[in-house]
This record gives sequence, C-alpha cells and structure tokens, in this order.
Amino acid sequence: MRDISHKLAFAHDGEAARYSDVFNPNDGQVQARVALGDRALLDRAVEAAKAAQPAWAAVNPQRRARVMFNFKALVEKNMDELAHLLSSEHGKVIADSRGDIQRGLEVIEFCCGIPHALKGEYTQGAGPGIDVYSMRQPIGIGAGITPFNFPAMIPLWMSGVAIATGNAFILKPSERDPSVPVRLGELFLEAGLPEGIFQVIQGDKEMVDAILDHPDIGAISFVGSSDIAHYVYKRGVDNGKRVQAMGGAKNHGIVMPDADLDQVVNDLSGAAFGSAGERCMALPVVVPVGEKTALALREKLIPAIQALRVGVSTDPEAHYGPVINAAHKAKIEDYIQMGVDEGAELVVDGRGFTLQGHEQGFFVGPTLFDQVKPTMRTYQEEIFGPVLQMVRAESFEDALALPSQHQYGNGVAIFTRNGHAAREFAARVNVGMVGINVPIPVPVAYHTFGGWKRSAFGDTNQHGMEGVKFWTKVKTITQRWPDGGASGDSAFVIPTMG
Ligand code: NAD
Repeated sequence: MRDISHKLAFAHDGEAARYSDVFNPNDGQVQARVALGDRALLDRAVEAAKAAQPAWAAVNPQRRARVMFNFKALVEKNMDELAHLLSSEHGKVIADSRGDIQRGLEVIEFCCGIPHALKGEYTQGAGPGIDVYSMRQPIGIGAGITPFNFPAMIPLWMSGVAIATGNAFILKPSERDPSVPVRLGELFLEAGLPEGIFQVIQGDKEMVDAILDHPDIGAISFVGSSDIAHYVYKRGVDNGKRVQAMGGAKNHGIVMPDADLDQVVNDLSGAAFGSAGERCMALPVVVPVGEKTALALREKLIPAIQALRVGVSTDPEAHYGPVINAAHKAKIEDYIQMGVDEGAELVVDGRGFTLQGHEQGFFVGPTLFDQVKPTMRTYQEEIFGPVLQMVRAESFEDALALPSQHQYGNGVAIFTRNGHAAREFAARVNVGMVGINVPIPVPVAYHTFGGWKRSAFGDTNQHGMEGVKFWTKVKTITQRWPDGGASGDSAFVIPTMG
C-alpha cells in the first residue's frame, strides 16, 4: 500500500505511530494511507521554519515575487498530473480539479505583485521636523489548516500570501486528500523557495491541537466546518495567536419573478450539483419569489436535474463525481430521510444511486426537495451534498429575510432583471459575498474571500489585501532628525501635533 507522508525541511524515516486511510471515492477502495504526525514532529518542523524564516524575510520582495512567478509556471506545467491526483483522492471531475488548482494559482498571481502590496505609508512633516512611516513585517511562522473540498485552492489562498509576505508556513491539509499539498511543496522547492519556508505536516485533531498550542506559531488560518472553526478560533486566540477561521455555509439563490428561468436552471444545476455539492459556495437553497415563479421553476428544474450525469471523476462527460467517503455519503442520505420525515416534498430522490462497474463508489444521485420550511433542521444545517432545497417565498422581503436570518452567511445570489431589486438586495442582505445573476460569487484573488455570521470567525478575510494584513504586522515609526542645535525642554504632557 502507498504511504503518503509529510513534506518537511529535514529527513525523517516516514514511520508514524498512527495512519489514516485514503480512499479512491470512485471505487470505495483504500488506495493509500497517510502518516499522522505528532507534536514532536511539529516541533522539528517549527525549528526548521525558525531557522529559515529570517533570511527569507530579508530577501527583497521582488525576489520573493520571482519565486511566485516560477511556481506559477511549474504548476501550469504540471497541471494535468496535479488535476488527476486531486481527482483521484477527492472525486471531483478532472475539469473541476483544474478549476480548483487554477483558482489557487490566481492567488499566486496576486502574490507576484507583492512588492506593491507591501509598500508602507509615509507622512512627511507630521509635526515640526517629524516624519511618520509604517512598514508591514511578517508574523514569523504561520500555519494553515485546510478542508478536504479544495485541496489545492485553499492551501494556496493561505500559503501564497503568507510566504510572499516573508513568513514561513506550515500546512496541515485534510487527511482525506493529502497528496496534492505535498506535490505543491515539491514544486515550491523547484521554484526556488528555500527549505523550511513551506512545509506540509499531515495529521488530524492531535496535530491541529499541537498547532493551536505551539508557542512559536504566531498566526493560524483555518477553513473547515463551523464548530471546528469556532473551536480553532477560541483556542488559538486564547493562546495569543492571530486567527482567522472560515466555517460552513448554506447559500441561497433568490429567484425574482422577472428572472430568466432558463438561465437560472443552468446556473443552479452547476452551483448546486457541481463537485457533488461539496463546496462552501455551492447554492443548495433556491428561493423562488411568488407561486407562479415557484411552479415555473420547478417544472424546468426537474428534467434538468434528472438529466445530470453522475460519473467517475475521469469521465469527461460527467457533471459530478462521488462524494469524499462512505461516512459522508451516509450522512447526506440521512439528511434526505430527515427531510422526508420533516414533511418536505422529495421531488427527485438521489439515494441508493449506483454506477455500473463502480458499485462500491461513494456516489449520491442529484436530489430535489420542494416545500422546505425554515423551521426544518434540513434547512438550518449544512448538508454538503448534491441536494437542492426549494423554499418558497411570497415576497422580496420574505426572500431577503431567509439568508439574512440564517445561521450561516457565506454567499448568496439573486437572479433578476430588475436593477433596483438587485441593488436593494446587495445592500441589505446579511451575508458576506453576494452574486447578482452570478451563482457562485467567489471573489477574484485581488479582492477578498470571507463570509459572515457562523461562516467565519475573526476579522480578516482570505487573500487580496486582507490576506496581506492577516499575514503581516504593521510597525509605525515616528522620526525626528535634530540638526544638532539646542535641545528642547523635557515634555511632561502627551506630545500632540496641535
Ligand atoms: P472539517 O471541519 O471536518 O476539517 C477541516 C480541518 O479540520 C481538517 O484539516 C481536519 O483535519 C481538521 N479537523 C477535523 N476534525 C477536527 C477536530 N475535531 N478538531 C480539530 N481539527 C479537526 O471540514 P471538512 O469536512 O474537511 O470540509 C468541509 C467543510 O469546510 C464544510 O463545512 C464547508 O462548508 C467548509 N468550507 C468552508 C469554506 C469557507 O471558506 N467558508 C471553504 C471550504 C470549505
């Protein structure tokens, strides 16, 4: 059996006390096992990071950016291999894996411009003979803890900005699809990054706790489910660290009566079922406004959903592949049963789906519920599978209230031809990322990514200038260069510029 290990700055024998199985979701078989590291291994990784980081921080930002340029070219050169590796562990179709990698590369492209982003502020003559300037300095050692659903994009969101700003970065990826981050580590080295600046340390809760408690790790970026995000945030902050922790989601798509329903059905099919619904920016709730809209939408949605092709991740015709593992498949099917028990109308049932020749694969067929009510648990909680729930709203105000009052506030979309309604919606909805006729409003790399409410704990978003802020500390210098004449009197009151 293949062993997947860490990517560290030092040689180690690869033996671990504990391992976790890595499945091929297409056939349900264990294809490898991943070593689960412990605190002693983390200590060694931190020592290597400490040894390497000061010299890396002293490299001028333009040269650091050149490593990013090289890395981008190398990832592009190896795109095919990386996409296949990603799909083989995650189960998303190859084209979607390329998208996962490409979205991460777009953050690397942002990092190619890091000299510009690191320019400080300067005020000449802030007082008599006094100038004030500020600089952004790296935190030192940062860590990233990432979920299974974007094994390339999310590690690159964090590591690109952390490294480009002069930090050493230790990544603890999901133990469910741990291989791509190791390959990214190899490509970083090939791109010219010094040893010790990007390390991958595999593990589970034990390693997460070791990271949260490590005194030499100054900042932690986490992405995963909300309860764990909250836990990571609290424990990290209690230990005096800077923490950003992104959590789960339940994104709504509001369909106004004037929307182009054919376009909405296309958009919803991709956004609700792409990647088997395992995206924090998926659109698993659709809210038609008015009875007429609901009926017309339902009529168009049913055949579109029934026509979706579920296949293995290498099937170029498949719209989506299997979910990550058997436990997650069972959880999604349990939620479907719960929806039935709660009284929602199960219109298309994806349970019990099998693919010929891949009977043990973790496949779930596309599922549609209608008549879902806000009081239902299946509405309130994140399912994270290929399940679309229709919640009917009577008016624009009712529709606006649904995502605004939901515990999650990651993304939301409105489909309409009415600019006024769209503008009102964007301004008033209590959610962090809004799409107007855009079903998956993941902001581009030079803007920032982050939800509200239980979708994110902490103050700063991922990537863009928010990422630069997160991975750096501001130092502000107030300077005076007396000309050597008489020195002034002592001042016993707080100095002012007044
Ligand atoms: P998860 O919370 O199970 O795991 C995330 C990370 O936490 C992994 O590295 C895992 O090893 C670690 N972990 C797991 N259990 C832990 C525990 N008890 N204590 C400490 N650490 C633990 O999430 P997942 O299933 O890998 O990913 C899916 C979730 O991530 C969904 O909820 C999805 O919405 C969310 N997500 C959010 C965003 C966002 O930006 N808001 C993006 C992608 C995914």
